[in-house]
Amino acid sequence: MERSKKIVLIAHCILNINSKVSGLAKTNLEMKSVIRLLLEKDLGIIQLPCPELTIYGSRRWGHVKEQFATPYYRKHCREIFNPYLEQIIDYQAAGYEIIALIGVEGSPSCGVNKTCSACWQGEVTDLKPVELASLEMIAESGIFIEEIKKVLKEKEIKLPLIAIDEEKPGLTKRKIKNL
Ligand code: SF4
Repeated sequence: MERSKKIVLIAHCILNINSKVSGLAKTNLEMKSVIRLLLEKDLGIIQLPCPELTIYGSRRWGHVKEQFATPYYRKHCREIFNPYLEQIIDYQAAGYEIIALIGVEGSPSCGVNKTCSACWQGEVTDLKPVELASLEMIAESGIFIEEIKKVLKEKEIKLPLIAIDEEKPGLTKRKIKNL
């Protein structure tokens, strides 16, 4: 069988839902259907590391973007992305096409067009209902994606960024089909 020479990079939890904050993503039907489509299209799939799991572990609380917007977390994001950046450069030099990077909308790390925002800090148990209720989705990328965008720009690599939106089933598949 001829290889497609086409590759897609995906956020870690699209293949491994266990990396998500405990309790989130009870259903991963959308992710499964996206994976099925990628396989049908004979795309090579590279699973990116989960930036939150690799620093805060599997028992972490859910966070918002503001809590990750620190130089330390940004540095961590760059460090874990670097081996994948090297693969992108190598594959492209060898004639392979990296057709997209797929993130996860709403994530404070991997959101592409949408991320969660709130002014949270301090003890979780001290958060007042009004502070909890201040959580909102804003039209920005999460921190991991922001750092990836910067690195790609620095290296002058063009790579379409799309994202799974569990609230809009089917949208990601349509985007992939249009790539
Ligand atoms: S940080 Fe990214 S890869 Fe990890 S669980 Fe959240 S969306 Fe998925």
